[in-house]
Amino acid sequence: MPATPAWPPKSAPRLFVEDELGTGRTIAVEDNQANYLARVMRVTEGDAVILCDDLTGEWATRVTQVDKRRVELEVGQHLRPREPVPDFWLCPALLKKDRFDLVLEKATELGVARIAPVVTRRCVADKLNPERADTIVTEAAEQCARTALPEIAPVAKLDALLRDWPQDRHLFFADEEGGEPAADAFCYAEGPAALLVGPEGGFDDAERAAIRAHAASVAISLGPRILRGETAAIAGTAVWMAEAGDWLDEE
Ligand code: SAM
Repeated sequence: MPATPAWPPKSAPRLFVEDELGTGRTIAVEDNQANYLARVMRVTEGDAVILCDDLTGEWATRVTQVDKRRVELEVGQHLRPREPVPDFWLCPALLKKDRFDLVLEKATELGVARIAPVVTRRCVADKLNPERADTIVTEAAEQCARTALPEIAPVAKLDALLRDWPQDRHLFFADEEGGEPAADAFCYAEGPAALLVGPEGGFDDAERAAIRAHAASVAISLGPRILRGETAAIAGTAVWMAEAGDWLDEE
């Protein structure tokens, strides 16, 4: 007797929607999302689509109506609750657009809770397009099957970030001039954490001194080589996830 195929199939498209989901509700997606479902994924009535609302988690839905600019779906089974997210913030100095886009995408895949962009004296870029950042993060979350979206904080100047730093959170400072080996620093420090990474030109002396003087800061090394900002942000986040994040508790 052939096994009945799993439903929804693993290949079902995944989307985050604004509306809160619940069994029996009808959800309409429009514009880019409708275009993605109708033209790219070529869904037809009865097809499965997995929807997330970043609140209640992930739901199986069935397509009930398909149009180029609008697709309607009926919400069925609750598949997974919104996942617990490791309490880790990535605080990357702004980089050139395509490199910062990479940081947004990879930080999302790696499981960060919050991305807090920082402006420092040597930043080449000094602003971030929030809509574009939101799209990159949402698409990355859909691709890696997160049920929770990372928060993207407004861009902050370094001195404001240090001034307003929450007391209970470790501020790991990626310092190419030296610090504790990242893996050691991360695995021995319990509790909420963050990683601050500099821009293409690095931190200047005054910035480095201010960061090191901060009560919550711990300078960490990511090895003997000088990494690009995006490499340091991605690698440092990966080490934290492996040492203190949710890569440890495989079910
Ligand atoms: N001072 C660097 C240079 O001489 O080219 C410029 C900064 S580096 C391109 C960008 C940022 O990545 C640094 O500010 C630091 O936060 C981080 N970084 C790079 N290599 C690192 C390492 N080996 N250990 C810790 N952080 C590093």
